[in-house]
This record gives sequence, structure tokens and C-alpha cells, in this order.
Amino acid sequence: MLQGHPLRDHEREEFHSWYRRTNGRRTLYVGLVMLVFAVVLAVSAPLGLDDTPLAVYLAYAAAIATGGVLIRTGIDREIDRLSYAGEVTIVGISIVWMFTAVGGRLHVGFGLAEFVIGTLALALLRYMRPLLAAVVFPGLSVLYGLFLWYRGVFEFVAWINSLVFAVFALIWSLTAFHGRIVLFRNARLVEELNRRNDLLTTLALKDALTGLPNRRYFEQMMERTIPDAASRSIPVALLLVDVDHFKRFNDRFGHPAGDQCLQEVGRALARENRPGVVALRLGGEEFAVVISTETGTDPAAFADRLRGRVADSGRVTISVGIAVTRPSGATDPAAVTETLYRQADQALYLAKERGRNRVETLH
Ligand code: GH3
Ligand code: MG
Ligand code: MG
Repeated sequence: MLQGHPLRDHEREEFHSWYRRTNGRRTLYVGLVMLVFAVVLAVSAPLGLDDTPLAVYLAYAAAIATGGVLIRTGIDREIDRLSYAGEVTIVGISIVWMFTAVGGRLHVGFGLAEFVIGTLALALLRYMRPLLAAVVFPGLSVLYGLFLWYRGVFEFVAWINSLVFAVFALIWSLTAFHGRIVLFRNARLVEELNRRNDLLTTLALKDALTGLPNRRYFEQMMERTIPDAASRSIPVALLLVDVDHFKRFNDRFGHPAGDQCLQEVGRALARENRPGVVALRLGGEEFAVVISTETGTDPAAFADRLRGRVADSGRVTISVGIAVTRPSGATDPAAVTETLYRQADQALYLAKERGRNRVETLH
């Protein structure tokens, strides 16, 4: 039961700071319950329902409230020592309260019920470390025995009963503590999984050579872009960009130089990125730019600017095929994308046929 969850060295520090924070909150909540009881008992004391003086309960209430404020302030301002002081105050008050309650009920049943309630409150207050719990709970039982003896009413069976309960509280505390370790570990695992998942998603949608979004991203993006453009009644333009005679470039300058050249083309395209304008690498030496803006960007002028910029670099030229659609809400985005792609590809074919280093639009 207690095996299998020891803290590993690399977890220790992070776990303890996490554990301190959860303990602060836990003490705060259980302290609030105790505060309510102290107030109820203080109110009932003058009615003669309880023979403890009113002042005692008021003092408990004030001390618990002070402890609560210390914990709250400590957590808010991230001052560990302050919240720890608050915890110690509340734990201290519960021990005092427990033994005054035991003392007050010695004449009926040795105050065993009060001992049990007090021990339970202590077990609930904090997640104690195993060693501390091993000292606290049997220690409480010993204290209880000594208290009975001091008051001259020691009774072996009552004391044994307190010991049995203290052992139960100890076992509960130990499992609760180990449960915290498991919870902590799970929380960290989920965090790590999410992080890796995000990374994988990013990698899956990104082209490794140019860093541009890839074809898979293009398909996913169009699933959103088409309905969005339909709802805003704006056109979507697809620019298919293909490097001219790139095979020849590779043959002449080598594949690594070809890769470098593709990166440059990618950068030239991505320089125009802004909301509604997205450059992508679809594969090989084929790129795309999707334009869906309300600002009335003229795709042909835009494409010609890109073409000019790449040509000016002097290394390669590009041909661009353009197709434009005005999607309506009813159409299937995948079908619209397919048609758009086919038309842009036809335009690109025309640009190649008509001599390359040019832009063609399919009307
Ligand atoms: P066209 O003007 O008709 O487009 O001629 P092209 O030579 O560019 O066309 P083709 O499709 O025949 O050749 C494309 C070349 O692009 C072939 C391939 O070696 C090269 N290529 C594709 N992907 C990469 C890459 O990632 N790196 C490099 N260096 N070359 C690539
Ligand atoms: Mg080419
Ligand atoms: Mg090609």
C-alpha cells in the first residue's frame, strides 16, 4: 500500500513547494470549519448549553481567524513563512482545544469522543510527512493517557481505544500523503504530455526546411478560411508559386545550394505575411500564398511584386498561377479548395507555357 511512490530526487524540491501550497489551502479550509464551530459554541455558551466559558471559544475563534489571515496573506504574497506561521497557529489551537474538550468531558466517558474528533481534525488539517505523522498521532495518544493519569481517571481500555484510533489516523495520513505524490506526479505527466503534444502538432504542420506551414496546414487552414470568407463575403485568392527550372539549378549548383535557394524564396514570400495573407510551402519547389482580406489586396499585383522580388535576387525566377473564389456559405470547404487548387494549377501551367517568370490568373 505504501510502497511504490517514494519521491525521486529530481522531484523532491518541486513537490515540496507544491505540497506547502496545498497544505496552506487545506489548513485554511479546515480552519474555516473550526472557526464556524467556535463561533456556534461561543453563541451557545451563554445559553447554558455548554459549560466552557464564552471567552475560551472567542479566543479560539480569534486565534483561528488570525491563523487564516496569515495563511491567506502568505499565499497571496508568496511568503511561505507567513502561511506556515498561520498553519502552526491553527494546528496549535486545535491541540489546545482538543485537550480542553477532553478535560471538560472526563466525567462522562473519559472525553474519548473529544479525543477522536480532535485527532480527526488534526489529520484533516494538513498532509503530514510520514515521519511527522508517525510522531504526532501515537504522541497524541500518549498525551491523552498522561492527561487521564494526571487528572486521576486513567482507564486502560479508554487509552487503548485512543491508541487504536491514533493508528487509524496515522494510516490515513500516510496514504493521503502518498496520494499527494501520485497526484503531483500525474499533474506533471499531463503537463509534459501537453507540451510534447503541442510540439508534435507544430512539427506536423510545419515544413522543416523553410519553417513555413506545410501542405497539411494548408488543408486545415482552408477548412476555416473558406467558411470564414463566406460569412464575411470576401474573396479567397490562391497563388501557386513554382520555382522555374529548378532541376537545372540543382544540377548546376548542387542540392545544398538548392535548399538554400528554397529557403530564400520562402523568406521572400513570408515577408508579406499579415492577417489574411499566409505563405506556405506545399512541397518540393512549390509554394502557395492564400489571400483572404477585406482590404482589397489585388492578387495579381501582389504576385507580380513577389515575382519581381525573387527575380531581383538573381538566383532563380518564379512563376505564379492565381485563382480566386467567392465562397458561399453552403459549399463544402474541401470541394472549394480542390477547385481553387486545380484552377491555380492551370494558371501556373499557363505561366510556365508562356515563358516562366510571370503571373497568370484564371478568370
Ligand atoms: P519548371 O520550370 O517547369 O518548374 O522546371 P523545374 O525544373 O523546376 O521542374 P521539375 O518539377 O521538373 O523539377 C523540380 C525540381 O525541384 C526537382 C527536384 O530535384 C527539385 N526539388 C524538389 N524539392 C527539393 C528540395 O527540397 N531541395 C532541393 N534542393 N531541390 C528540390
Ligand atoms: Mg519548378
Ligand atoms: Mg514543380
